[in-house]
Amino acid sequence: MEPSATKVAIIGAGAVGATLAYNLALKGTVTELALIDVNREKAEAEILDIQQGAPLGRPLKMTAGGYEECGDAAITIVTAGARQKPGETRVDLLGRNAGIVRDIVHSCIGAGFQGTFLLITNPVDVLTWVAFAESGFPMARVIGSGTTLDSARLREHVARHCRVNPMNIHGYVLGEHGDTSFPAWSLLTVGGVHLDEFCPFCRSCMEKEEFRARAAEEIRQAAYRIIEAKGSTSYAIGQAASVIVESIVRVERRILPVSTVRKDYRGISRTAFSFPTIVGHGGAEQVLQFTLPPEEDGLLMKSARFVAENIQAAGY
Ligand code: NAD
Repeated sequence: MEPSATKVAIIGAGAVGATLAYNLALKGTVTELALIDVNREKAEAEILDIQQGAPLGRPLKMTAGGYEECGDAAITIVTAGARQKPGETRVDLLGRNAGIVRDIVHSCIGAGFQGTFLLITNPVDVLTWVAFAESGFPMARVIGSGTTLDSARLREHVARHCRVNPMNIHGYVLGEHGDTSFPAWSLLTVGGVHLDEFCPFCRSCMEKEEFRARAAEEIRQAAYRIIEAKGSTSYAIGQAASVIVESIVRVERRILPVSTVRKDYRGISRTAFSFPTIVGHGGAEQVLQFTLPPEEDGLLMKSARFVAENIQAAGY
């Protein structure tokens, strides 16, 4: 079946899937949206709840259906599976979620899906590899949300500190979406000016290294704090995923730190991690190629190795 350029299917109608559906409906990014969950009643209720706001927003065809809905979707977004309990890491979810993702990928392909997979379920980098291996799709059409969320957290943190609009902050958290991720300070600019030059205030109020260490820790711990208090993270990941969807369906070619698979990355076979990537109609159209300063490069390699070990542990 020919994919419809503006139809998406979301698998998993939980906190993340439902929030993403609501976000896409509010923005009018897509014209058709299907929500699929083992708990069909939950998917139907989420659709009903969102659809009842349609007269006050933008018209959108919404369905709570089965996998046949993926047949003509441009993007299938996988949010189904277990989420972290307080104190659990993302990697702790691997045993529970690898089989779920494998089954979902095969159900989509069985329905004739030919679009782009966007993985959100954790541990997202390892599961991006699982979806790639199981689907046989080209690398560009299997993407993980990766550190798009973590990078938004970094930009928000720096913006709050510097008291400027977060949209004026450019910067990335790179590597695994997990505990080995790191902010690439060498790339961070405020209104086009490198952070070190922009912020003499930072030097007087706090040592540069102390600020960076605290920021990195706060960003890394953000999900744990939110999960501890409210059980799950949903709004910022819904926003991050909708930006990736927009970049694909509207061919925006945004540069986003999505997770892509690497069959052989500088001696590491079979890994997946986030690096700035042009995202457009073809999915991950081009991963940017540049060298980080030695310290950050070391952190990237460490993170890529960590994901590779977990891919191997998952039997891939
Ligand atoms: P949730 O428990 O609220 O929802 C999960 C949903 O998946 C449930 O509705 C459940 O019925 C459904 N489900 C389970 N197995 C299924 C299957 N085989 N087929 C279809 N549906 C199935 O969880 P959540 O808070 O929405 O989180 C979902 C996933 O997203 C978790 O793995 C979480 O860790 C991850 N997550 C990732 C990021 C990121 O940045 N990548 C951010 C937040 C959450």
